[in-house]
Amino acid sequence: MIILDGKTLSQKILDDLKLKISNFKLKPTLDIIIVGTDSASQKYVALKQQKAQSIGISGNVHQLSESSTTADLLSLVNKLNKDDSITAFMVQLPLPSQIDTEKVLANIDHKKDADGLNPFNLGLLFQKGSTGIASATACGIIKLLEEYKIDISGKNAVIIGRSSEVSIPLFALLLGKNSTVTICHSHTQNLKEICQKADILISAVGKPKFLTKDFIREGAVVIDVGFGTDSNGQVSGDFDFDQVSKIASFITPVPGGVGPMTIASLLFNTVQIAKN
Ligand code: NAP
Repeated sequence: MIILDGKTLSQKILDDLKLKISNFKLKPTLDIIIVGTDSASQKYVALKQQKAQSIGISGNVHQLSESSTTADLLSLVNKLNKDDSITAFMVQLPLPSQIDTEKVLANIDHKKDADGLNPFNLGLLFQKGSTGIASATACGIIKLLEEYKIDISGKNAVIIGRSSEVSIPLFALLLGKNSTVTICHSHTQNLKEICQKADILISAVGKPKFLTKDFIREGAVVIDVGFGTDSNGQVSGDFDFDQVSKIASFITPVPGGVGPMTIASLLFNTVQIAKN
């Protein structure tokens, strides 16, 4: 079994980006909108800002209160859309339940959409030869598979989860690379049997240790997007790592797999936008 080391690859990507940026006349910027005080979201935003600064990307964090409305968000999004000094920005998800997340994402100028979550960019992913900006998490997973020279073409890929932030863009990217892709969700029947047929099995559910060894075909490539804490208070992904790592050919650890790749891809997108 080989560990898909997102931490090392993400640092390599950041080093490359730093070098690229040092040769740019117009420096890329990344602003981040965050709503509320959820500690995990605050931590992610601080990390994104710190990594951005470390490679020469400046930007502001816009902190809005937990009770903000969709109109408050739209007003800030429109302000950032119009500000020529800002090359890219993103909205940290999830947003509080009173906010219409889809509407907010749809209003981000698709040319400044660092996280690749605007529906226009999402739609472009389904076009052949697309140059759209891909969801940072989905894009990070593809970079990880490619780094380890894992065959995608013709393989059975199964994605558990159907969020438009992770799973749907990943579906489009894998399909574009000639994989045969199946999407599963909470209404899927025979989940175990479908997973057992996967050459590449990806989970983005958010239920720690939900997937045991019984779900995995021997030699499968396992990608764990899930992030949570198990019953012992330990950080865990959707897969039971101890069991699954014994039969997988490749597996992402949690932490240190998909998470750092998401940040590296976010900054990759930010640099790409500035270049465009
Ligand atoms: P989400 O919007 O909550 O989606 C979860 C998906 O899981 C839904 O499609 C849901 O199906 C499906 N699901 C729930 N229970 C299921 C079951 N028993 N069997 C099969 N499918 C089931 O999640 P998300 O935003 O994609 O995030 C998922 C996880 O990834 C979370 O832990 C999140 O923290 C993590 N995440 C990590 C990164 C990273 O960079 N590492 C980035 C993004 C997200 P329905 O649609 O039918 O409800």
